[in-house]
Amino acid sequence: MPTPARRQYLDIKARYPDALLAYNIGDFYEFFDHDAETAARELHLTLTARSFGPGELVPLAGVPTHAIEVYAARLVARGYRVAICDQVSPPGRGLVRREVTRVLTPGTVVEPGMLAPARETYLAAVAIGRRDPATGLPRSIGLAWADASVGAFACVQWSADDLPHALQSELARLTPAEVLISSGLARDDTPEAAWLRPYSLSPCPEDAFEPESARIRLCRHFGVATLAAYGCERLPLATAAAGAIVQYIAQVNAPLLALFSDLHAYDTHGYVELDARAWRALEVVESARVDASASQPGATLLATLDATRTPMGARLLRRTLLHPVRDRAALEARLDAIAEMVERISLRQRLGALLDGLGDLERLAARVAQGAAVPRELLALASGLGRAPAVIEALTGCAAAALTEARAEIDPCADLRDLIERAVADPSEATGRRLRPGYSAALDEMVGTASETRRWIAALESVERERTGIRSLKVGYNKVFGYYIEVTRPNLDRVPDDYSRRQTIATGERFVTAELKEREAQALHAEERIAALEGELYAALLAELGQAHPRLRRTVGALARLDSWLSLAAVAVARRYTRPELADDSALEIIGGRHPVIEATLDGVEFIPNDTHLGSLSDADETPPMRAMLLTGPNMAGKSTYLRQVALITLMAQIGSFVPAQRARIGLVDRIFARVGAEDDLARGLSTFMLEMVETAFILRHATTRSLVILDEVGRGTSSADGLAIAQAVIERLCVVTGARTLFATHYHELAGLAETLPRLGAWRMEVAERDGQAIFLRRVVRGASDHSYGVQVARMAGLPVDVTTRAATLLRERLDASMAVAESPVSYHEDTGAQPERLEGPLAGDERELALALASVNLVAVTPLEALNLLFSLQQRALASLGMSSSTHPYRE
Ligand code: ADP
Ligand code: MG
Repeated sequence: MPTPARRQYLDIKARYPDALLAYNIGDFYEFFDHDAETAARELHLTLTARSFGPGELVPLAGVPTHAIEVYAARLVARGYRVAICDQVSPPGRGLVRREVTRVLTPGTVVEPGMLAPARETYLAAVAIGRRDPATGLPRSIGLAWADASVGAFACVQWSADDLPHALQSELARLTPAEVLISSGLARDDTPEAAWLRPYSLSPCPEDAFEPESARIRLCRHFGVATLAAYGCERLPLATAAAGAIVQYIAQVNAPLLALFSDLHAYDTHGYVELDARAWRALEVVESARVDASASQPGATLLATLDATRTPMGARLLRRTLLHPVRDRAALEARLDAIAEMVERISLRQRLGALLDGLGDLERLAARVAQGAAVPRELLALASGLGRAPAVIEALTGCAAAALTEARAEIDPCADLRDLIERAVADPSEATGRRLRPGYSAALDEMVGTASETRRWIAALESVERERTGIRSLKVGYNKVFGYYIEVTRPNLDRVPDDYSRRQTIATGERFVTAELKEREAQALHAEERIAALEGELYAALLAELGQAHPRLRRTVGALARLDSWLSLAAVAVARRYTRPELADDSALEIIGGRHPVIEATLDGVEFIPNDTHLGSLSDADETPPMRAMLLTGPNMAGKSTYLRQVALITLMAQIGSFVPAQRARIGLVDRIFARVGAEDDLARGLSTFMLEMVETAFILRHATTRSLVILDEVGRGTSSADGLAIAQAVIERLCVVTGARTLFATHYHELAGLAETLPRLGAWRMEVAERDGQAIFLRRVVRGASDHSYGVQVARMAGLPVDVTTRAATLLRERLDASMAVAESPVSYHEDTGAQPERLEGPLAGDERELALALASVNLVAVTPLEALNLLFSLQQRALASLGMSSSTHPYRE
């Protein structure tokens, strides 16, 4: 029979089976039972045991109350949910009442210490629509996301045409910390379940996603009758996902809902689409190195462009990079703003000084709206707002429309600032008060009386010594009797009549007076009443300030925009970027282009600029305009760098940034595909030929005339003959049928011959000079095909012993005659390039020599893991046959 205390714990725990329950007892949050074991392991706490009544010893691990945020943050970062159970009735007789006040989950944490300053933490929800019976795939999908630290809330819906890539791309952009899905989906073996597997999923009850009840829930939340104003009236699945988010937040941390005053239905067709692999290949916000810790943190486009001065500006810049835009007018507006900043050094300096150290006003404003802001935060908000008038002033007279608009959106919120400065006490003065004197007469009076009482008590000793003439008289305090007057034995005869005796001690007696007791009660009571009144007034102040959240958000949004533009402008000036010319045609003309990231990380070495002419009409001898570039050259010559540089310049143009080039004319793209061939991507452990083909097939199916395709050494995951044939087929298809702007890099110089047969394909090569048998990479892209691969020279540069490279050079000469050539005629291709991995088929001779021959013919250097497995399988088949065993009786066959 559990004790009542244990019973209480078990009851609460039963309601949060999937969370670790942090249970407040006195000055600690305790974890019990299995939770204790988990917490002790994850947090390196000592696991002890505690008796919950006779005979019942349970495991226990605890953390001090003041440190719960730090510990909880660590648990949440490891993917746990932590339910915080607090005491909700004052300690007294019997059991203290306890309740779970909130549940910390990866997608809903808002505590400043638990959040990365420069990136968002998103909670997402995915609602799956009815299935098409023919394909088994959903007809539509809704996605909603929320950033609870600032109150951003948005939703989107796609139909079957866009699926699943639109969902996958959007999730890759958001990288949500937590994704809500219906519990049915969590169990399902559906394709969607596979798409969502990379994310931390939180299953929710099926009905959370029911569109109609979600609609009603959202209407109730916003206090409206229809969702028309939010643009999601005809988007039942977007609505369902948004509704699930509201329901979830209401359960885990209801006060956060106050922040969500708006829902924004959007459309992903306005953005350039890149999938997760492309983002990684281009290293836009994250480095592609697997050993990310070893690579420089600066090796991303974001790090190169980020000179922001506020966390909200940094977050916006990151968002901007992840949302390249397809609308030319919107981009020109941004470019105008940046151009003006680039031209006017005084504007840059003035804005820079104002934004420096401004702090995270966006999250501060949200903390206010949540009712969670402490005085220090309110004062920081007020001081930030104090700079707004100067920002408005600095923007006065600006020509760019985007700057004028930002200026108009900045509201210095003088009333709020005033209120904060009048109301909130400076914590550094350590008065112990949150509110300033003069803010509330009632509070001041209470504080006045209390301090008058304290003064009276403080003065009591000298007053009584004077009155009684007892020099050794003392006023003291203890927990049991409160204040007392102590008189030593020799002086007891001089004690006045109004003293009443309370306690006898070894050296004398302790007394009280009626007035002392009265004052004492007053003092005690006063502190409680002051705290209560101050708490009330402070909450009311927060509520009043919270009302202004929409105003604050607009202001803060404008400041964040200015910060992100200023960052792009500052980097443009420092690195001599130029304004790109945006076009609606398929131009991709870059003069003197550079790789923004490599250029910034090359130490002392000069980066060699290169040109690009694709889809341009200016190159007179190209009719029709060239669409694809086949770039050959040996390893380490600079092919990958060049390809990425072209993609990054295009991406930068489409976020409205200046670009690292002397001049660039960019026909806006709808999607960017970027694929790195298997060998270049070996470290990821994904180097199977099959995967490479699946991805190439995807590009062939989805690229349009407006797309940009970057293929770096694709087709290397198999033996050279296959690789060449496939590479050729892919290029032909992209060039001839699709007409996408394509850059294809390969060290198979044999492929270059293709350029002669395909009119819209141009052959280029990395220029290499040879001196004394050494290859010197000039890093220059020039017309024509590379004629050999310099593999031996590269090996020598890499430090292979001389005798090895010499022997290799001899071998190479011997084999030159037998070198592999490109297939004469174009290979035929089908809708699905679902190429089959090679297999060693053939009659099962069962002869030792045959087996030996088969084994001997394997090129271990060129074989991929998948091929190796297939090979092993076929060898085993033969072996089994030669032993007279049937494969079905083999012990390891299912
Ligand atoms: P490849 O793909 O041909 O093997 P990479 O593009 O990986 O070659 O380039 C190898 C190295 O050469 C890069 O890491 C970079 O440091 C350097 N490099 C490439 N292009 C340039 C350039 N244009 N200017 C200066 N250095 C370059
Ligand atoms: Mg390369």
